[in-house]
Amino acid sequence: MVEVDASLMSRMVLRLLRQIMAEEGPTDGKLAGVVKLIAEKTSSDVCSCYVMQEDSVSLELFATHGLDARAIHSTVLKVGEGIVGKSAEKRSSMPVSDAWTHPDFSYKPETGEDVYHSLLAVPIVRGKRVLGVLVVQDKIQRDYVDAEVETLETVAMVLAEMFTQEEFISYRRSIKGAYIERKIKCVSLGSGYGLGRAVLRTPRPKISHVIASDIGTEIIKFTIGYDKMIASLEDYKKLDKGEHKDIMEAYSMVANDKGWKNKIIAYIKEGLAAETATEKAYQDMWERLSGVDNQYLRERIHDLRDITDRLLQFLIYGKIGATHKELPEHTIIVARNMGPAELLDYDLTKVRGLVVEEATPTMHVAIVAKALNIPLVCRVGDGFAKIADGDEIGVDGGSGHLFIEPSEHIRKEFYKWFAEKKKLQDKYNKLKNIPSKTSDGVDVKLYLNVGLPFDYDYIKRTGCDGVGLFRTEIPFMASAKMPTVEEQTEFYGNLVKVLKGKRLVFRTLDVGSDKVLPYWDKVKEENPAMGWRSIRITLDRPSIMSKQLRAMIRATSGGELNVMFPMVSNVSELLEAKEILQNEIAKETEAGNEIPAKVNVGTMIEVPSAVFSLKDILKEVDFISVGTNDLAQFVFASDRANPKLQDRYDTLSPAFLQIMKKIIDEANDAGVTASVCGEMAGRPLEAMALLALGYRNLSMSGSQYGAVKSMLLSLSLGDLEKDMPKIMAINDVSLRKYFKDYAEVNQIDL
Ligand code: PEP
Ligand code: MG
Repeated sequence: MVEVDASLMSRMVLRLLRQIMAEEGPTDGKLAGVVKLIAEKTSSDVCSCYVMQEDSVSLELFATHGLDARAIHSTVLKVGEGIVGKSAEKRSSMPVSDAWTHPDFSYKPETGEDVYHSLLAVPIVRGKRVLGVLVVQDKIQRDYVDAEVETLETVAMVLAEMFTQEEFISYRRSIKGAYIERKIKCVSLGSGYGLGRAVLRTPRPKISHVIASDIGTEIIKFTIGYDKMIASLEDYKKLDKGEHKDIMEAYSMVANDKGWKNKIIAYIKEGLAAETATEKAYQDMWERLSGVDNQYLRERIHDLRDITDRLLQFLIYGKIGATHKELPEHTIIVARNMGPAELLDYDLTKVRGLVVEEATPTMHVAIVAKALNIPLVCRVGDGFAKIADGDEIGVDGGSGHLFIEPSEHIRKEFYKWFAEKKKLQDKYNKLKNIPSKTSDGVDVKLYLNVGLPFDYDYIKRTGCDGVGLFRTEIPFMASAKMPTVEEQTEFYGNLVKVLKGKRLVFRTLDVGSDKVLPYWDKVKEENPAMGWRSIRITLDRPSIMSKQLRAMIRATSGGELNVMFPMVSNVSELLEAKEILQNEIAKETEAGNEIPAKVNVGTMIEVPSAVFSLKDILKEVDFISVGTNDLAQFVFASDRANPKLQDRYDTLSPAFLQIMKKIIDEANDAGVTASVCGEMAGRPLEAMALLALGYRNLSMSGSQYGAVKSMLLSLSLGDLEKDMPKIMAINDVSLRKYFKDYAEVNQIDL
């Protein structure tokens, strides 16, 4: 290797590299071209490229110019083994003047390296991922100067981009065993497995332009894109007075950071295209910040990721949001946060899994995902930023793991899981015609929670007793404008037809909090979950309630209408709602329209004050249904959408179970049917506890039905009821463990 000006050298090599990469032809040929070019341009006797294998500890020789070609795909070094392995382990360049005398040298005879002395190994790194090692060797013993090391590091940086492109990934796949797989522990919000290509909600455009053809042009391009991005943030801040404004303030701070901007310009000056330089500057920052133990700084990495993505969009497309594209056949949606309406925007027939970093189990996006049987994981942590658009992702909702670029071995595991799931589904399908009775003969009614027509499938498949909760707001959220009475009547009528006389419980519009209607201005509230939502909105805007009730009356004319009101806090709200209902019935009768033969009114119990007004409420209703998702958030004062609180409180705690017991006891005393329709009812262990407290009506998402029914059939309720006083008397924060032990000892199918 001869000494030259690093920056000049880098630029020359990069220009030639760009030509090689742009050429048509197989990837191994391109890689061979790259090592040959580097050997020639750096006047080195050897240039080789090692690629990290699927186990993340082995580096396989993929291309060489100068060593024995037979060693390609045969020579393997472990991370930490030899100078090459050490350089990967330390993630730093290692210039060695005489490899033979170096304590780390590992001689590989099949490469024919006997005659070479000096060696420079440079890791190919993206983020914290070592993707390979680039090596040059020389016959003579010599010291490498900084400029030479820098040149090779710049080339390694370009190779890192090449290695993450689709073309190279397919090539790597075609070579047995050569994968770069990441396995990341995360939290599962529903069982199930999904395999597909990552589609980032904040689209991160693919970078295909790696090397600058003209540095001046790239700097101008960067400046224009950067200014546009900053202006877009300013516009956003002016427009939005709400919570987004704070987010945008934080973004602006990050985006205006001089260090970041200068770093990008420095990379462009080294010869990288503006978009590659931007991504590289992000990777550097990520590397620096991801290790720090400061929550605030770590959160800034997420901001920086979003800002980088925005800038990339301006650089590549000239504007934001231009990347909307067809979903791959098997898609994994990746988002930091997401409302249920946004999920419904996607073509769900193609969505195989979700990664929603900040999701919690009772957040509506999680509930909708569960209803759709889409596996969802959250809290991926640092791994979140490692997912690139188009990466193959495996979502393991069983053990709570996420795989980026899974190996053939792991993919096989996924196919095995798909087969097992099918087997379990077949088992559950067979339960369809078995009456839902416990093993000691207690009848339990099992209903479904439904929202969209996707859920209707389960009605036929499960043989359920009907629909215990029709979340009518979901179609409202999924359409572009408020549905008319006629549209609502048709929508409700369709479900009535599907149910063929089985019980159907309509819930009136329950929007607000995280259920946002796209056509309503978002109102800024300090505490939206405790704010203007649900019945509070529909009582303040009675025409919405009247129209909805009219549609329900029409959809069930001549039949039975069961309607319940959500988020009721006291009797007077219930009476107000009942009056609107009576008025609508009267109006329909006056108009000569047929009304339902029977109307039953119910209320959800999901606000603590309703629990303590229950005796009065029970006098006014035909049935009640406990919404444990909201009730638990208010009882524990614990936001159901806050991931930090997710594991803090348990519905199987003595406190919560006492409340659930009070509700069922009072309902039984009043002769009013009580059911549970929160997520608690759809979890076999929790459902078992609810049965033991006295509940006989449970309503759950279709995907949970089989598991709950299976538990029910294996449960001798009388025996558990005998043990209940003992279990309930245990002084512990959660009784989960004791219910689990009971189930295990008594062989209850959980
Ligand atoms: C609940 O709160 O438990 C419930 C069923 O309603 P939602 O989840 O739709 O708020
Ligand atoms: Mg609720």
